[in-house]
Formats: sequence, structure tokens, C-alpha cells
Amino acid sequence: MANPMVDDARQIKEDNPFESMMSRFDRAAQLLDLDPDLYAVMRVPNRELKVYIPVRMDSGRIEVFEGFRVQHNFARGPAKGGIRYSPDVNIDEVRALAAWMTWKCAVVNVPFGGAKGGVICDPTQMSMTELERLTRRYAAELLDFIGPEKDVPAPDMNTNEQTMAWIMDTYSMHARHTVTAVVTGKPVDLGGSAGRREATGRGLLFVINEAIKRFNMTPPTTRVVVQGSGNVGGIGARLLHEAGYKVVAISDIRSGIYNPNGIDIHEALLHLQTTRSLEGFPGAERVSNSEILELECDVLAPCATENQITSQNADRIKCKVLAEGANGPTTAAADEILHNKGIFVIPDILANAGGVTVSYFEWVQDRMGYFWKEEVVNERLQDTMVASFNDLCKYADSHSVDTRTAAYMLAIDRVAYDTRMRGIYA
Ligand code: NAD
Repeated sequence: MANPMVDDARQIKEDNPFESMMSRFDRAAQLLDLDPDLYAVMRVPNRELKVYIPVRMDSGRIEVFEGFRVQHNFARGPAKGGIRYSPDVNIDEVRALAAWMTWKCAVVNVPFGGAKGGVICDPTQMSMTELERLTRRYAAELLDFIGPEKDVPAPDMNTNEQTMAWIMDTYSMHARHTVTAVVTGKPVDLGGSAGRREATGRGLLFVINEAIKRFNMTPPTTRVVVQGSGNVGGIGARLLHEAGYKVVAISDIRSGIYNPNGIDIHEALLHLQTTRSLEGFPGAERVSNSEILELECDVLAPCATENQITSQNADRIKCKVLAEGANGPTTAAADEILHNKGIFVIPDILANAGGVTVSYFEWVQDRMGYFWKEEVVNERLQDTMVASFNDLCKYADSHSVDTRTAAYMLAIDRVAYDTRMRGIYA
């Protein structure tokens, strides 16, 4: 008989994104026969900061928030990674997300290491002025550790262009001059890049375009399910819809909508914007966030959050291609089940790398003081995503491994090479 205590413990471990990341790292390191000294250096982050952020709330009372910044690796350049505001933020999640940034930057070959930040807070319960005070104080606590040559934050869940503008301003006040390159994902008028807002969704479209060719499918014959309707899911679904794909389902945190004949994503997002819910969208049936993952489709794009496809539901996933728009939507325990079902996985560290690729372009443009047209940004993004997809498939074939393992091997190989060349652990 199943022991619920043991099952619970296993589930907690499976749900720990850092454990998920490490088990894939270990497997890839073993297959690469990674030098033990390099393994010892690369398996841990470079630096972890914990800050307590006092904020005067609108009520006049002070509330102290807990925040983190993990800088995982600097071997290939300054650390790079988003900042997340959520009640669920914890150090293991931030650690995993920071490591994923290191591997992601290496997979698409941009000259950054990985970092991530997070603050435990509930932005839905905070006013704009409270969020501004929180952001400025958090940025002030990080002043010695971030900078264009050190660590360059960007938006993540529940942070946006406005958050980045506040961080840029706080940093610039202390530097006594405007330093646009300290963050990416800024408003275009403040040194942001054209195309950055859509970049993660657009990158997802580019790799899905490549993946469906392997199945001799074309956009009009491809049914797509998208979980999440924020920056990645909403924009990704819109771009897929505009490219002629049949998007049959989409969700937000509450629930989703499904129509096997396809959904007009422009209308659905408008409905979400005006009613704050997808529910009640005409001509579509309601589905829960767990049901949406198990729908019959060709491409499933989980674009919401971690741990959506686990050992508990992986055998019910019915897509041909899994395009991981979110970070860590699949647990390590689910990998083998998906592999045995013959599902082609575009792993998160490639599928959602469009964001960091255009963040890199933004950092370059800020440092040049010369800004590119959106078509130039999109064309360079396409070049990077298509080349990285092809590199990954070649690597998987030549090493006879699945695409997830190949992505980790390729990334670890690149970071290990640079670490060895620099001799930074000598
Ligand atoms: P977002 O806050 O704009 O959107 C998140 C979406 O997911 C919303 O629709 C929300 O309602 C839904 N959601 C949140 N929690 C959920 C849950 N528990 N169950 C179901 N749905 C839920 O965030 P985003 O920027 O789109 O990021 C989504 C994911 O993509 C995250 O994993 C993030 O780390 C990753 N990512 C984002 C970017 C980027 O450029 N924004 C880049 C790379 C990776």
C-alpha cells in the first residue's frame, strides 16, 4: 500500500525546482564526464544575497519584505536574470532560476552568466506607490552587486517595464548619471529595445516553427494549447495565431477556455483585459488549468509557472511537441515519461530564450547609444533561435540523447570550456 508520508516527501522533492535542475545537471555532467574540479565549481552558485526590505505602506506602517538575488555564474560574462515578485518566492526557486539563466545564455550563446532575484510579496495587494518604494529599496540594497558589467536584472513574473524604470532610476541616482544598461526590459523611450516585450513569445514561435517541420506539419494543421496568458503565453499565443496556427486553448491563473476549431486570440485577450477573466468567452468551453494540459493537441506550450507537468500527469499529456515557454514547467521525474511517449521537447532553456536574447540586444544598444529598428531586432532574434534549435538537434543526434539532456550538455560544455580557459578556480 502507498505510504502517504513517503509519497508526500517524494512530491515535495519533485516540486523543488532546484532539485529538478540539479538532477538534469548531474546527468549531463556524468554523460560529459565533466572534470570533478569543474563539477565542484559549477554545481553551486557564485553568490547568494538575502535582503530585508523595509517599506512604508500607504497605511503609514512599515512592513519588512524578504528578497533575494542569486548570482549563479560569471564565467561567460556579467550575470543576467529577471526579478520576480510573488508570495511563493523562495531561495530554492531563485537558485534554480539563476542556474537556468546560466544554461540558457550558454545555449543561445549570449555572453552572460546567470542570476535571478525575487521578493516575497503579493503585488496584487499592493498599490503602485508601495510597489515603487519596495522596488527602489530593493534596488538600493543590491547597488554594490548589480551594474552593466556585473549583473543586469530584467522583468519576470509580476514585474514589468515600470519596475525596470524604477531600478534604472535608483541606480542612476547613486551613480550620478543615467545608466540605462543596468537593467533590460525597460520602456523603449528609456533605453529599452524595440521588440523586447514580444521577444520571449516571438522566440517561442520561431522554435515551434522549426519543430513542426520535423512532423511535416504546417501552422494551419497544427493545434496549439497555451497555458498562461501573460507576457510569454499571451503574446506567444497571439503571435502563433497571427502566424496561422490553430490555438485551441489558452488559460490564466483561474482557468482556461477551449474550442477544438480554434480561438480568436485577439478577441480572447481583449475579453481577458476587459473582464479580468477568460471565463465567459463566447463559443469556448471552460477548462481547468490541469485539464488544459491534457487536451488533445499537436503543440503544448506551458507558459505560466513551474511544476505543471509532473510524474502525476505526464502519462496523460497528448501533444507531439512540448514547447516550454515557462521556466521549469516540467519536473525531472516527468522527463522519462514524456521521452517514452515519444514527445519532442523544446526545453525551457531554449524555448523561452528569446527574452534573454533580446535583453542582450538591449544591453548592446544601450552601450552603443544607437538603437535598432524592430525588424532588425526580430531578424537577429530569428537567426539566434533557429541556429540554436539546429545546434541543439544536431547535438542530441550526435550524442544519442534527448533534447533536454542535450541542452544541458551543450550549455555545461560551453560554460566548462570558458571556466577552464579562464582558470578562475586555479
Ligand atoms: P506573467 O506574470 O506575465 O504571466 C504569467 C501567466 O501565468 C498569467 O496568465 C497568470 O495568470 C498565469 N499563472 C500564474 N500562476 C499560475 C498557476 N499557478 N497556474 C496557472 N497559471 C498561472 O509572467 P511571464 O513573464 O509570462 O512568465 C511566465 C513564465 O515564463 C515564468 O516561468 C517566467 O519565469 C518565464 N519566462 C518569462 C520571460 C519573459 O520575458 N517574461 C522570459 C523567459 C521565461
